[in-house]
Amino acid sequence: MKTLIFSAFLMILALSSFTQTKVRIDQKMGFDTPELQKKLNEAVGLFEKTINTNEFANLVLTKKLLRRNGLSSNGVLDKILNGEELGTIPDQIINLSLKVDTTFRNEIGHTTGKIIATQKNYILEHSAQCYAAHLIHEYCHVLGFSHPKRRTWRRAKTVPYQIGYIVRDILGEKCP
Ligand SMILES: [Zn+2]
Repeated sequence: MKTLIFSAFLMILALSSFTQTKVRIDQKMGFDTPELQKKLNEAVGLFEKTINTNEFANLVLTKKLLRRNGLSSNGVLDKILNGEELGTIPDQIINLSLKVDTTFRNEIGHTTGKIIATQKNYILEHSAQCYAAHLIHEYCHVLGFSHPKRRTWRRAKTVPYQIGYIVRDILGEKCP
């Protein structure tokens, strides 16, 4: 019996090591300098590393989240870790389509459909940690989560903002 329990334990351990979520870049537009490319690779690496920590899961489950699209906190966490972009099946792969935005806009970035556009200046003038936090905020939009445009305390509690803040805090950065 003891060995049975032990093998079950080993099996769970083995399975859980396979359930790491991957972050993949499907499409990238405008990363035409080594500096932009380097920042992107660093940010995506940090993104993947952070979401696979226990700390990330614990914070997502304990923070108050608004606009959860009818999901529980666990449901929100699963949606992220399963890489369940709108209209796709859960595959534990976060698929990113990324763009460098060179037009002047009064924002860090925005998401249209599945394309995440980020201001070139923001990428260059901030750390890879900040870019990673921004990417997960925008990725929440790809998953179908929204927030009001106006800056209010409620907006700061929505899924995209909270998840972005969690990643930023785990990475120990202060980002605009
Ligand atoms: Zn947003």
